[in-house]
Amino acid sequence: MRVAHGAREKLTNWAGNLTYGTDHLFEAGSVSSAQEIVRSHDKIKVLGTRHCFNSIGDSHDNFLSLRPMRDVVAIDATARTVTVDAGITYGQLCPWLDGKGFALHNLASLPHISVAGAISTATHGSGELNGNLATAVAGLEMLTAGGDVVKLSRATDGDVFRGTVVGLGALGVITRITLDVQPTYSVSQYVYENMPLAGMRDHFDEIQASGYSVSLFTDWRNQLINEVWIKSRTDRPAAFAAPPEFFGAKLATRNLHPIAALSAENCTEQMGVPGPWYERLPHFRMGFTPSAGKELQSEYFVPRGKAVDAILAVERLHDQISPHLLITEIRTIAADDLWMSTCYKRPSVTIHFTWKPDWPAVRRVLPVIERELGPFEARPHWAKLFTMAPAELRSRYERLPDFIQLAAKRDPRGKFRNRFLDTYIFAS
Ligand SMILES: Cc1cc2nc3c(=O)[nH]c(=O)nc-3n(C[C@H](O)[C@H](O)[C@H](O)COP(=O)(O)OP(=O)(O)OC[C@H]3O[C@@H](n4cnc5c(N)ncnc54)[C@H](O)[C@@H]3O)c2cc1C
Repeated sequence: MRVAHGAREKLTNWAGNLTYGTDHLFEAGSVSSAQEIVRSHDKIKVLGTRHCFNSIGDSHDNFLSLRPMRDVVAIDATARTVTVDAGITYGQLCPWLDGKGFALHNLASLPHISVAGAISTATHGSGELNGNLATAVAGLEMLTAGGDVVKLSRATDGDVFRGTVVGLGALGVITRITLDVQPTYSVSQYVYENMPLAGMRDHFDEIQASGYSVSLFTDWRNQLINEVWIKSRTDRPAAFAAPPEFFGAKLATRNLHPIAALSAENCTEQMGVPGPWYERLPHFRMGFTPSAGKELQSEYFVPRGKAVDAILAVERLHDQISPHLLITEIRTIAADDLWMSTCYKRPSVTIHFTWKPDWPAVRRVLPVIERELGPFEARPHWAKLFTMAPAELRSRYERLPDFIQLAAKRDPRGKFRNRFLDTYIFAS
């Protein structure tokens, strides 16, 4: 069904920094209706919850939204999986899942995003033993460019499965996703303020190992990590003891926003109050504006073993970065084997930048950061803003040639391609 999009209102991404190249938007409420829409167009892109900052999900032709397809299809308590329709968001899935006694292994900083869009771009949370959100995918159903249904599972489809999960929207329309689940658990969250940069430098591994999911926030001013967020599972024997001081940082005495000057109203509960996993792993609460609101984002993945050097290299650029920055977040993610994952075969640390919404200024500083991170073979987040040359980006993905072959089988005429994919993936 073609959705009438307000004639005066242009279709934009969440941040509003990208006006999409078309407002031809079709909505499917079933697999058969999605098949019909896919078959009757030469070009189509799936639109998720529009949280990408760059044009990876843009189209100048047609969009397909699966928003009405957001049911939980089945829960398999024996296999420990849940199967969902591809239009569902984490915010819709998680409370339901928790009510059934189950949980996901991790979440991103916000619950507002679609599961399909998140796994397609290798969206991640934090935790040195936690893979990104795509690593929870145990099975997928998708439509090829011809509208045929392909079913893949981790258990039976080996390499093809590993090539498909982080599909960047280039391999087809995901209609159903099966995710690993585990018994539900509680998390408590403590925040520390003002850790000297030297504390981070000398104790990075201990800091990262202190919780199930750890985030460091800095504005790169005054040689400080402004806030350290430690999320700890209460069902684990070595739950975080929350001493008053932690490598020079002080335990916060009130809930904080990652940008300390902003109200913590939209943030998840802190101060060690235990709560369900889905109300502690994200930093931001469902029903509230996540993050700062008016902002741009960039993020780079560096190898875990070189993380401290990479962080210090960025710190040396503080004069150029801080004037345009709202906040930086540093997180840790386990390696995986998904071909186009930003953590492919590499335990990773991410250096993230939430920028003021001033693209000309951000566009000037990104190449400086990328040059500094070049020796660390940084991989930019697929969904965020970067300026890296396509050839350099491609050189960071050893399975790219296999991915291109897979795309040629599923989509020989480039129905799901757009300018971003043509530039960064398919151009040789
Ligand atoms: C405030 C904010 C906070 C964020 N926090 C984090 C974070 O903590 N960690 C992190 O890693 N990222 C984070 N992100 C980035 C976000 O997770 C990614 O942009 C993610 O891709 C969002 O999914 P979406 O559905 O909203 O995106 P969309 O832009 O709608 O889609 C993303 C891509 O997936 C494709 N796609 C969507 N659905 C399907 C489908 N059914 N079949 C095939 N392809 C599909 C689209 O075509 C597009 O290419 C954040 C973004 C914002 C705005």
